[in-house]
Amino acid sequence: MKAFAYVNARDEKEAVAALSTERGKVLPLAGGMDLLGLMKDYIAQPDTLVNVKGLPSTITVAPQGLTSIGAAVRVADVAAHEALAKAYPALAYAAGEVGTPQIRNLGTVGGNIMQRPRCWYFRNEEFHCLKKGGPRCFAVDGENQFHAIFGDAPCHIVHPSSLAVPIIAYGGRFRVVGPQGEREIDADKFFLMPDRNMYGETVLESNELVTHVLLPRQPNVKSAHYEVKFKQSHDWPVTMASVALVMSGTTVASARVVLGAVAPVPWRSPAAEAVLKGKPLTEQVAAEAADAAVKNAVPMTQNGYKVQLARTTVMRAIMQAAKA
Ligand SMILES: Cc1cc2nc3c(=O)[nH]c(=O)nc-3n(C[C@H](O)[C@H](O)[C@H](O)COP(=O)(O)OP(=O)(O)OC[C@H]3O[C@@H](n4cnc5c(N)ncnc54)[C@H](O)[C@@H]3O)c2cc1C
Ligand code: SF4
Repeated sequence: MKAFAYVNARDEKEAVAALSTERGKVLPLAGGMDLLGLMKDYIAQPDTLVNVKGLPSTITVAPQGLTSIGAAVRVADVAAHEALAKAYPALAYAAGEVGTPQIRNLGTVGGNIMQRPRCWYFRNEEFHCLKKGGPRCFAVDGENQFHAIFGDAPCHIVHPSSLAVPIIAYGGRFRVVGPQGEREIDADKFFLMPDRNMYGETVLESNELVTHVLLPRQPNVKSAHYEVKFKQSHDWPVTMASVALVMSGTTVASARVVLGAVAPVPWRSPAAEAVLKGKPLTEQVAAEAADAAVKNAVPMTQNGYKVQLARTTVMRAIMQAAKA
């Protein structure tokens, strides 16, 4: 690992002051679960790390208005928070499925959302791929069984954060701070496709930090998160889906359907949402929505199986929400 300087920031002000506009030179360090691995593999080579564990670390579930989750809240605390689980069951469930207890105890919400992609070519310093400024994507003709089935982008990563999927389903926002002050960004617009940001995955500037996740409180919402893992291991899911359905009696007034691990960003499906709108939550409607969700999939050479898996994942998430 390359030697680095260390700044122990006590709060967001000190942390922002220590960051830099130069990409990759100064990096925030939260639980270190992702960043230290990248540094050991020489994929990240910052001159300075800024400890951001001093960022807000509390969860406030509002009876109405906005619920807030600090960036330094541990993933384990999201999973274990009773009021949060009652109001946002899809998020609590997704948090409880992240990695292992040790990973959830160290990993933070901010770090989870900002973790870098798991593409094995990206993680291997021998492969100078598009994402690292190289000439091509090695996944196209290579081992792409866990890569994207949507987006048909020049880089075929899948977005790794399990928490981002339900956060978008619930219509969440991120509070971000930087030298110019603070701003709030729709979680739906926070993650960028590779053609809009090849070297990062979000709209965040390198001198900005995520400080909070903000979630609206809506009455009459049925929601669920469903994920499929390879042999139920501690590894990242192969497919996931979160649904949040605003109900009017027994019919769906409006729906948000978000798939994970299938595209370079958490993948919202307006087609599935349109199928659900105005319908009762029957198995037939869930199947039609799931068909619509995968209709435009563009699998690569080895990941065609993910299309059917994604369809089943969406259908089960909807049926689980129906029972909530
Ligand atoms: C074996 C294994 C299995 C895993 N399985 C899953 C899984 O199933 N689902 C899942 O979602 N995750 C999974 N993870 C990922 C794990 O949850 C993340 O690595 C962890 O949440 C990262 O959090 P951290 O606090 O350790 O972040 P760090 O490693 O400290 O940081 C991660 C990145 O975020 C940046 N960063 C950190 N905080 C901020 C902030 N506040 N603002 C801006 N940038 C910031 C850092 O600079 C770095 O680039 C797994 C990890 C491992 C090792
Ligand atoms: S999918 Fe992206 S990160 Fe992976 S090899 Fe291709 S360009 Fe690189």
